[in-house]
Amino acid sequence: MKVRTRVAPSPTGDPHVGTAYVALINYCFAKHHGGEFLLRIEDTDQVRSTRESEAAILDSLRWLGLSWDEGPDVGGPHGPYRQSERSEIYASYVRRLLDDGHAFKCFCSPERLEEMRVAQRAAGQPSRYDGLCLGYAPDEVARREAAGEPFVVRMKVPSDGVCVVDDQRRGKIEIEWKTVDMQVLMKSDGLPTYHLANVVDDHLMEITHVMRGEEWVSSAPKHVLLYRYFGWEMPKLIHLPLLRNPDKSKLSKRKNPTGILFYRAMGYLPGALLNFLGLLANSVTEGNDEMMSLAQMVDRFALEHIPLGGPVFDTAKLDWLNGRYIREGTDRDGFVTSVRDWAFSPERIARIAELAQPRIERLSDLGGLLAFFFSGRLPVTVEQLRGGKLDDLALRQAFALAQWELDALRDWNVAGIEAVLKRIAETLGKKFRDVARPFYVAITGSPTSVPLYDAMEVLGRDLVRERLRGASDLLGAPSKREQDEWKRMSAPLAEVSAE
Ligand code: GLU
Repeated sequence: MKVRTRVAPSPTGDPHVGTAYVALINYCFAKHHGGEFLLRIEDTDQVRSTRESEAAILDSLRWLGLSWDEGPDVGGPHGPYRQSERSEIYASYVRRLLDDGHAFKCFCSPERLEEMRVAQRAAGQPSRYDGLCLGYAPDEVARREAAGEPFVVRMKVPSDGVCVVDDQRRGKIEIEWKTVDMQVLMKSDGLPTYHLANVVDDHLMEITHVMRGEEWVSSAPKHVLLYRYFGWEMPKLIHLPLLRNPDKSKLSKRKNPTGILFYRAMGYLPGALLNFLGLLANSVTEGNDEMMSLAQMVDRFALEHIPLGGPVFDTAKLDWLNGRYIREGTDRDGFVTSVRDWAFSPERIARIAELAQPRIERLSDLGGLLAFFFSGRLPVTVEQLRGGKLDDLALRQAFALAQWELDALRDWNVAGIEAVLKRIAETLGKKFRDVARPFYVAITGSPTSVPLYDAMEVLGRDLVRERLRGASDLLGAPSKREQDEWKRMSAPLAEVSAE
């Protein structure tokens, strides 16, 4: 049997280091066994999925040095590799489950489901569909359907007993069936949910080992059941640990940048970042040098070495490793290429020079004016941030709103950034000029510089987010209560991203 693994990202945001971690482990496992590694795009969430996000995910995984044998960009015999292009396949499998009596049509309204949930919560019961529509006779179902009532398709799930999930790394995990919901498999628009699409695809794409984050353990019983209903052999399951912040909380961008593109923008070398993730996938160092190429990671890969506790994404260690890659891991020419790609690509230089041209008297003014383009975090002080007309509350609100709204901005470009900042000034009832000033300071390190939106566009979302977060932390990050309150002031995100 040929080992086949996959990474199956949902293109709903910035490429996450967790996706790279999961991809690396799947890659190493497959290649260690002479197998194949696939990339599948899980874009069943049509509202949140975007092609920009998909492109950024593929681009950043490639930048890290990973490649896949089959995928939406390289094709392959099991395509299409984008779930939005496979709707008919899923529809046929839903029909099969309905015909075999393993699934049923559910006509319950969102209001009824909400009432049910509230009642269950009040009674301290797990939230689970109560089975009302299971009791309908076939003619009742036909009548409702003929009357045009919208329905979803749910899978039948037993109420008694336990499901044993056999995890190749963690052993047998027992989950009571009564805690497993009668999962919606097909939404009222005829499109599948993650669970159905994922199982059907893993089967059709001949995946032998499913290695995914441990947040999916509780979904495993649904998948076990679906494989059973279809009569398919289940791939081996391995749940991978979630990466953690140093305080052991789940890695989140409020505490630590989580975007691959952030690390790229900060000037980490791809080999160093990949190597760092590789160390987090291996709890045994075996006295080996910690510097490892991808080929060495493949060679040394062992399932038993994947840590079970959450490995800490320790950026101090990453810094150390990156320093080694810069000094020892690359020769002079390689280093020159890295520097050029990071800072001095012809397009970037053209863009930056154009911004500087109307603002300098000598070329030697460039250094002072443009240094912030070649830096990571900036050594900004509270006094600099406070130097304008906004009081601390308005400053803190402006930075908080900007972080949320810029995160939601779909296209990272001058027009979108401008719209967000102008709207924040309006929301706060302040003059735009007064609001722009602290942003200049936070982003460029100075109250006057090259045009702000252009600077932000060139720096990229990740570095901008980090500089805003730094400024916000200096002034005092919003408390939970402030967050809730300020979020209500924030413009409807959909409106912002539509522009
Ligand atoms: N689309 C899922 C995610 O983004 C994939 C989970 C899986 O690997 O099955 O996490």
